[in-house]
Amino acid sequence: MRNATHELVGVTCALGAGRVLGLEAVETAALGATALLGSWLPDADRRGTRVHRRSRLERRSLLAGALGRVARLPLVAFSVVARHRGITHSLFACALLGTGAVALGMALPAPAILLTGGLVVGYCAHVLADGCTPHGVQLWAPFSRRRVRLVPRRARIRTGSLSEGLLAAASGALALMLVVV
Ligand SMILES: [Zn+2]
Repeated sequence: MRNATHELVGVTCALGAGRVLGLEAVETAALGATALLGSWLPDADRRGTRVHRRSRLERRSLLAGALGRVARLPLVAFSVVARHRGITHSLFACALLGTGAVALGMALPAPAILLTGGLVVGYCAHVLADGCTPHGVQLWAPFSRRRVRLVPRRARIRTGSLSEGLLAAASGALALMLVVV
């Protein structure tokens, strides 16, 4: 599934969570922004994906570029040893991130839980969305390598297909509705 679709699905889930939790607009915006970042993280297991690419600021500033390069070194090392859609796309990784996010969010001042929570929402939405593709995900890694598809064969979403376009459009429309209404 394309990164833009993951971003839309992650942000829409965060906006929905903000609505369910009755958050203020600024709090929901924070949740959505970090969900966007969270939606990039599972694909850290593959070079060239969004989380590995330089931001505009990094391309324009020598210092920001150097800092970004250093900050990404652990991700680069991870992508060398990790299997794509392996452990990063598992319930284990979601639970690990969730536990870390709650612990960090509770240790820091109050708004932090929104930021860490958004990361978790974006991350989990990405894993669930990839679980709806023909390739599936190793949902039970590291305990099993079996690939899990979350929807029946006919409903699986191929990358770049019309159904992915429809999912992205529906997510975008829902996100807009959650912001406007
Ligand atoms: Zn993925």
